[in-house]
Amino acid sequence: MKYIFVTGGVTSSLGKGIIASSIGKLLQSRGYRVTIQKFDPYINIDSGTLNPYEHGECYVTVDGHETDLDLGHYERFLGIETHKPNCVTTGRIYQNVIKKERRGDYLGKTVQIIPHITDEIKKRMLFLGESGEYDFLITEIGGVAGDIESLPFLESVRQLKWELGADCINVHLTYVPFLAAAKELKTKPTQHSVKKLQELGIQPDVLILRTEHDIPEDVRAKVSLFCNVQKEAVIQSRDVPSIYQVPVRMKAQGLDSVILRKLGLNPDDTQCDLTAWNRFLSMMENAVQTVNIAIVGKYVELQDAYKSISEALLHASVYNGLRLKLTYIHSDTVLECGAENTLCGFDGVVVAPGFGQRGTEGKFAALKYTREHNIPTFGICLGMQCMAIEFARNVLGFADANSTELDSATTHNVIDIMEAQKTVTEKGGTMRLGAYRCTLKQGSLAASAYGKAEISERHRHRYEFNDTYKAEFENAGMVFSGLNPESGLAEIIELPANKWYLGTQFHPEYSSTVENPHPLFKSFIAAAMKN
Ligand code: GLN
Repeated sequence: MKYIFVTGGVTSSLGKGIIASSIGKLLQSRGYRVTIQKFDPYINIDSGTLNPYEHGECYVTVDGHETDLDLGHYERFLGIETHKPNCVTTGRIYQNVIKKERRGDYLGKTVQIIPHITDEIKKRMLFLGESGEYDFLITEIGGVAGDIESLPFLESVRQLKWELGADCINVHLTYVPFLAAAKELKTKPTQHSVKKLQELGIQPDVLILRTEHDIPEDVRAKVSLFCNVQKEAVIQSRDVPSIYQVPVRMKAQGLDSVILRKLGLNPDDTQCDLTAWNRFLSMMENAVQTVNIAIVGKYVELQDAYKSISEALLHASVYNGLRLKLTYIHSDTVLECGAENTLCGFDGVVVAPGFGQRGTEGKFAALKYTREHNIPTFGICLGMQCMAIEFARNVLGFADANSTELDSATTHNVIDIMEAQKTVTEKGGTMRLGAYRCTLKQGSLAASAYGKAEISERHRHRYEFNDTYKAEFENAGMVFSGLNPESGLAEIIELPANKWYLGTQFHPEYSSTVENPHPLFKSFIAAAMKN
């Protein structure tokens, strides 16, 4: 069992998650069993309560854990499923230590950051490694070396490097800026960042230098000398148009071989097979025809808020041989400028998930337009609920139809809290979280897209379609094409009279990967292309 710790220096947003995923992909493509976990230095117990504006999307694992969006990258790159132990926050660590303290586990002892917090961190850092399911465990440490918040994590990495010896390495990602006035690449921030790690007792084994320009040999040699890292282990990560090119760029510089050698393995023993990955890349690079898709939502200022949706749309476009042009539209804009002005000309429209009332009237306006103009439309979670509400208002004639989440006084609550099947979350709320089974209706669009009758998809919501309205919806042409087999709750609705008008109560975007694009997204993009 080998352990790789990925840390970052100089600034955040250098793409540690992409580097961790790329390393994982290269090792996996040599036949190794790999998983990736993230240790995040914030006090929140999980990502469920984080604001998407600040932190991007909340990613949901099959076992119903609300996690950091980097777990989405791990799953998309590696095609694996991650679970609750793959995402650990400082809050979770402290919660456990305090729970143990109250239980009397440390009786008589002063409970301290070292060793009690660091022991709890180390236990969790090793947990997946001890399962026997993997050959490599990659751990990404959130934040930047030198942050107060990440100190206990880095101290734990120092201890584990000492304890695990040759089975453990540190890959440190830093930034090499280019000063335009001096026309020079500057290595000082990297040197400082490595000094910071060394002060904390960690000697990086591999350095990855994020850069906008190629790093010449002499600069690489300088970094190697000043940072005590072998020259072959100083790798550049130059900006690329797509994150999916990163593994290939890393491979070209021999990153996988360097890592294997440092961990005492012979790179000649295994062959790197990136056939499927490269097929995806060449399809992406060779696509000429463009498909124009709009996402109507309320978190459009920070595009990371819809990361899994935009990636799923990209995967689906590539496999349809198309170039994706994605436009984010604030749902308020649809109201202010009119649906015709904002949406005409798009080949397809996605109505995004979300919580709360803000922006929903714009979603109804968008849906009325795309339904009436037969534009391929994909409603996801709140987007599906909005589809039902818009249909109830404008087709069934219930002018005040709404969800009780959005208007508790409505007399036509077509979306409501339903009794069945809720998980009580740690925050005390009740939600459907994680994967639930769904049975598809024979002959439906959903069934033909999936090509099977039984599926399982991930949920994250509190409200449901209110079954008391089902017959009225059906009589007016709505088909309930996916039902939960236990509770009968509506999971997929579609309008067969339209080219492609479908909503899912679940989040299909979480399970689309580079090598396995999601069937519903593929089918949606195929319909949009014909539009
Ligand atoms: N706010 C809605 C609910 O709780 C939808 C949530 C979502 O889109 N993820 O049911």
